Amino acid sequence: MKYISTRSGDSAAQPIGFLDAVLAGLAPDGGLYVPETWPTFTPEEIAAFAGRPYAEVAAAVLGKFADGEIEGDVLLEMCQEAYSTFAHAATCPVSQLGPNLFMAELFHGPTLAFKDVAMQLLARLYDHILGQRGRTLTIVCATSGDTGGAAVEAFRGRDNVRICAMFPEGRISEVQRRFMTTVEDANVANLSLQGSFDDCQAILKAMFADGQFATAVDLSAVNSINFARIAAQAVYYFTTAVALGAPHRPVSFAIPTGNFGDAFAAYVAQRMGLPIPRILVATNSNDIMARAFEDGRYARGNVAATQSPAMDIQVASNFERLYFEAVRRDGVETGRAFRGFAETGVIDIPPSALAAMRELFAGASTSEPDTAREMLVTLNETGRLIDPHTAVAVSAVRRAGMDGSTPVIVLSTAHAAKFPEAVSAATGTTPTFPRADRALSTKPERYDRLPADAAVVMDYVRSFAGR
Ligand SMILES: *Cc1c(COP(=O)(O)O)cnc(C)c1O
Repeated sequence: MKYISTRSGDSAAQPIGFLDAVLAGLAPDGGLYVPETWPTFTPEEIAAFAGRPYAEVAAAVLGKFADGEIEGDVLLEMCQEAYSTFAHAATCPVSQLGPNLFMAELFHGPTLAFKDVAMQLLARLYDHILGQRGRTLTIVCATSGDTGGAAVEAFRGRDNVRICAMFPEGRISEVQRRFMTTVEDANVANLSLQGSFDDCQAILKAMFADGQFATAVDLSAVNSINFARIAAQAVYYFTTAVALGAPHRPVSFAIPTGNFGDAFAAYVAQRMGLPIPRILVATNSNDIMARAFEDGRYARGNVAATQSPAMDIQVASNFERLYFEAVRRDGVETGRAFRGFAETGVIDIPPSALAAMRELFAGASTSEPDTAREMLVTLNETGRLIDPHTAVAVSAVRRAGMDGSTPVIVLSTAHAAKFPEAVSAATGTTPTFPRADRALSTKPERYDRLPADAAVVMDYVRSFAGR
């Protein structure tokens, strides 16, 4: 299976294999890698996932994308190791919030957010590939809070990789920050940048665009522009839907969305054969994705700080992958649209592409008061504390008037204890940490502060990489 750029057609980006696509992150023409064709499972194969360990389903799904580039037993062992770091035997269990309303608990990993699901696997994929090729890499990661912690936790202490996490100063929760900054391993650097997450992401893109820099430091990315993360996230759509009776019974999803990675992974699962009638894309007041599905205009706004900081994003990188699909994989058109977006901040989605997106996707944005109210309502109705990101999606489902006869699974993307300030302000209850082993609040922190200036950050990374 080869991987192509979403901007292929107007550039010299050649199709590459799975392992190369994993290491590359962004394509040289600025596009994102997607498989040349979508692999599929038959309904019988999907039905046979029922009752199997999570790691086995993960190996089956990833195996479709690796397509023989990693031996089956090696891949299975990687998945088993990755998911043994989770504190729940089901890895991503499903629980019930109400009639036909369910929650996929994606927060049982070491840093209490769903980013662990993909990152734990990605670290093992990197180990395997780099060991095989005798290479080292510098991973630079722009984080809205949770990706950085998950990446630092997954890659710390590994021989072939050094990792630098960049986060927007003052825009992430203290717990999120401490998951990154209390790590002592020498292969980890943390950067607090005076800007927004979109600024961090723009600096990362500038690093890749500077070929000389990228080559000098052996730059790699683990943001959700990396297709392996999307593939790893497609897995829990299968396991959770099958637990509720798929493929015989269709199951819809509601997804708290920032960079559109998780939502695109749902699309991937659907293309692979999982019957998903509806994907509700829930945003906080940074509603670029909700507006795009609503009025056909993908238009950047100003980033507002909210209770759900991992979604304080106005440029949803993975939307380029959906756009590419919706314009019938026209790479020339996709390149034109997204180069234009970088300049003007607007894409007017062609009507036929918008219609194609709306067949599966709907958008909804949840206000700050509604997010807080939902945390309280859910606590009162179920006795469970949910985090603000999860609350954004639960509230969206209640307002969206979804077909009551189809089960809806809300992705619960973080544990409430990761956002104790917001949860206790909304509910009067302070969530407790499920794992006591990290001494997060007492360990000293280690990070550097820089302006959100690409040249300054690149100098820093060069010296961190010793190049
Ligand atoms: C990253 C994150 C999201 C948004 O996921 P995307 O894949 O970027 O859309 C939602 N909730 C939490 C807790 C996150 O960490």
